[in-house]
Amino acid sequence: MALVVQKYGGTSVGSVERIEIVAQHIKETKDKGNNVVAIVSAMAGETDRLIKLAKELSNNPSEREMDLLLSSGERVSSSLVAIKINELGQKAMAMTGRQCGMVTDEVHTKARIKSIDADKIMNYVNDGYVVIIAGFQGISEKTGDVTTLGRGGSDTTAVAVAAALNADVCEIYTDVDGIYTADPRIVKNARKLDRISYSEMMELASLGAKVLQIRSVEFGMKYNVPIMVLSSFTFNKGTLVTKEDENMEKILVSGIAQDKNQARLKINSVKDEPGIASKIFNTIASNNINVDVIVQNVSDDGRTTDISFTVPRDDAEKAYELLRNLAKNIDAGDVTLNKDVAKVSIVGVGMRSHPGVAAKMFDSLANEGINIRAISTSEIKVSCLIDEKYTELAVRTLHDSFNLGNE
Ligand code: ADP
Ligand code: ASP
Ligand code: MG
Repeated sequence: MALVVQKYGGTSVGSVERIEIVAQHIKETKDKGNNVVAIVSAMAGETDRLIKLAKELSNNPSEREMDLLLSSGERVSSSLVAIKINELGQKAMAMTGRQCGMVTDEVHTKARIKSIDADKIMNYVNDGYVVIIAGFQGISEKTGDVTTLGRGGSDTTAVAVAAALNADVCEIYTDVDGIYTADPRIVKNARKLDRISYSEMMELASLGAKVLQIRSVEFGMKYNVPIMVLSSFTFNKGTLVTKEDENMEKILVSGIAQDKNQARLKINSVKDEPGIASKIFNTIASNNINVDVIVQNVSDDGRTTDISFTVPRDDAEKAYELLRNLAKNIDAGDVTLNKDVAKVSIVGVGMRSHPGVAAKMFDSLANEGINIRAISTSEIKVSCLIDEKYTELAVRTLHDSFNLGNE
């Protein structure tokens, strides 16, 4: 008997009709002789609706209260799915993060999972229940407060549960039937991949392909959980996220990603001496803000330089304030913030063994007159920061240049 973990995203449970289809599919999976644990997201649009309500009442709502508020979306959907499965004659039990012992750290709105009460979940499974877990939420280890795992966090709940229960597979049901060479909403002839390596998927996710939350892929890779991404609308065979193999290396570029959730900060006239970069980035990191593309210019006179870097756009104002205060303390010049930037990236394990990939990317962008504002690379990716208005053009151009599309 296999243990199947399934996750249904917001669109998949977005209406009563959708919940009926999902409940039916869970029951069918169980009827085929599998044990099933399902994780659900809030109904489509619900998390955004709750955020909007809070923002109408406060510009800066407390993160603790936001977590409590947002976790309610997944409570609703998980209960409704369980209600329908019971109605179909299959025993089902819905559980919140707290009820399944999903313990996290204390970082509200982007908590990390520390442990899961696998025994409690398995006791119900062994009693013949399908267990429906409210995704995206946990409770903090020290205070027992409700925490959430960041936008898209139900993916991470699902893969973490699959790892903790040692499940045979983690199926992520969404509104596309797999991982494509680029976001199919932007590139019409994007091609569906049969398989993709964990490391490539991790890059794509961290570079903006929100089809899987990055932490979910990290868990998958660490605990070797096979992740299948597929559609709850067609139930066709999807894309398997799995260990890298030799065949994957033959492909130069596997996918393109874009990320508009970017903002660029620049701090001018910084003293060119040891310890300054460490002060700047420690200040940002200690406020739980992730820093991405960093550029430090060579100083002309050996005395001062400027440093720019990107942060997620939601954190831009906070980072700007921190940096302006710090600039005064370290005797630096003014600080500027630009939110009209986006990042486009190419990803592929084949890059390790093929030179010239970055040059080809820069050529393609130049041919369209797109200026590159900053560059960052790793073994298997190249990212360029560009003006936001060129994002779609850049993605389509790169997709064509690297021949990724369907004929
Ligand atoms: P869910 O609500 O099911 O979690 P998401 O909206 O979070 O779904 O993720 C699915 C979306 O991810 C798709 O509708 C698609 O537009 C987007 N996406 C971005 N990049 C890709 C890609 N490379 N392959 C497939 N989907 C992608
Ligand atoms: N409901 C949350 C969100 O919209 C979590 C998720 O859907 O995975 O981000
Ligand atoms: Mg998602």
